[in-house]
Amino acid sequence: LTDEQRELTQIMRSSGQSLVHLINDVLDFSKLESDKMEIEKAPVDLIELIEETIEMFSYQAAEKAIELLYYVEVGVPSLIFGDRERLKQVLVNLIGNALKFTEQGEVVVTVKRSAQQKDNGSEPVVRLAVRDTGIGIAPENADKIFEAFTQADASTTRQFGGTGLGLAISRKLCDLMGGQLKLKSHLGEGSEFYFDLRCREVPQQGKPRNEMIVEDLDRVRGKTVAILTSNQTLGSLLVLKCRQWNLVPHLAATYSPDLLRELARSQPDLLIIDPLAIGEQHNAIAVAELLNRLEVPTVFLSSIGSQTLQPVLERLPRVGQLFKPVSDLKLAEAILSSLGGVDQHSRLNQAIAEKGGTRLKSGTLADLHPARILVVEDVAMNRKISGLVLSKLGYKDVSFAENGQIGVEMVAKGDVDLVFMDLHMPVMGGLEATEQIRKNFGLPRQPVVIAMTGHAIAGVKDSCLEAGMDDFITKPITIERVEESIRECLESSVNKTELSS
Ligand code: ADP
Repeated sequence: LTDEQRELTQIMRSSGQSLVHLINDVLDFSKLESDKMEIEKAPVDLIELIEETIEMFSYQAAEKAIELLYYVEVGVPSLIFGDRERLKQVLVNLIGNALKFTEQGEVVVTVKRSAQQKDNGSEPVVRLAVRDTGIGIAPENADKIFEAFTQADASTTRQFGGTGLGLAISRKLCDLMGGQLKLKSHLGEGSEFYFDLRCREVPQQGKPRNEMIVEDLDRVRGKTVAILTSNQTLGSLLVLKCRQWNLVPHLAATYSPDLLRELARSQPDLLIIDPLAIGEQHNAIAVAELLNRLEVPTVFLSSIGSQTLQPVLERLPRVGQLFKPVSDLKLAEAILSSLGGVDQHSRLNQAIAEKGGTRLKSGTLADLHPARILVVEDVAMNRKISGLVLSKLGYKDVSFAENGQIGVEMVAKGDVDLVFMDLHMPVMGGLEATEQIRKNFGLPRQPVVIAMTGHAIAGVKDSCLEAGMDDFITKPITIERVEESIRECLESSVNKTELSS
């Protein structure tokens, strides 16, 4: 699996889990009310927790074109004693709300050593904050919103949905963890929710991740990095990171032909580019190609799901791509590999490999098992997700049908090798559609049919196989499962063809 595939799988898994969390809210609340909630004190990697929580929201943020950022101050202990699940629950709620009540701008999560409280060395006080540039909260509602089943005003439910439970639970959880959830907000400008935690640090073996990155980047010390982004916070963050890593940053906010000339003249060692800064008056693809001609290694910071630059980035030499939200590890690694400072045995590389991100570029599944694929699915969102998963696996020839009947007609044209088939659809369901496909003796070759269903109930699988399907995967689909299924089905269909010929 490539990094992108792993990333997508992880995001999907996390999103699925967050849905389960939502259901648990109601259960939690009653538990909290009856004082039966217990808080755990086990080692938690704070940075990892923040990164994985942020990543859960990367789609949602990309869809609303909101910049989702996080910043962990140097000196914040990474490994602390705490309750991983409860911390995550509070963060999920705060970030979820921030995105929900923000139409444009940014959501920023920060973790800093708290300046206010006295912190004695071994138990630093850490402030976690979630700030947004959304609708804000009127002063008269500032207390009310923390009450159970209460929203800022009656129109909230109509416009945004929700139960009004999230903040009530979060506040109680923060209380139990020894902090207090507080709010700073200006109506129309945005809100910031924050809480302080006294953290007992877990004695760590080896160096913290921050220091490890700085050491590994020492090999490219002093190199110049030109950064192009129109988001001020992202710009400042990248500048700060570069400085911490002994690189020399130059920041620009918008793309212009002048900037291009300036870059050609100054020849920085590396370009980091947020495609959003290119602006609608310029053609992003043309600009990417112009930048590539500068012969400066370039890293694009793409939003997940945005396909605009995808085809061009793949064929430009010296160009890399990182998906937002960009973690320190990923950024450092991209900088190192662009600047030619990669050492296979570096600790940074090991750390990345441990996180499941080997950088070896191998062929895609589509290179190995080429196929023309049809996805038969009535829910638009699911079609989009399947398309994304398949494109991440390298499949370019993918078509879609909204119900079984259209699917049967498309297969009858004879140019489909593999079908992903939803079961419950209007007009014609997946079982019937598969039976019809199997009855069509006029086809040059029968396609592989893989069922996609929300039901993992025993018995459903049997009816799928009976209808003539080859395999069965349950939704929400994951890249790993789709890859496994395609691999198995296509390999066994090749074997069958070889035997029969
Ligand atoms: P829900 O989001 O399900 O309505 P919450 O308890 O999480 O429940 O939030 C209660 C109310 O607080 C929301 O309905 C909204 O009116 C207000 N609120 C929460 N977070 C924000 C935010 N970041 N910006 C603006 N309003 C917010």
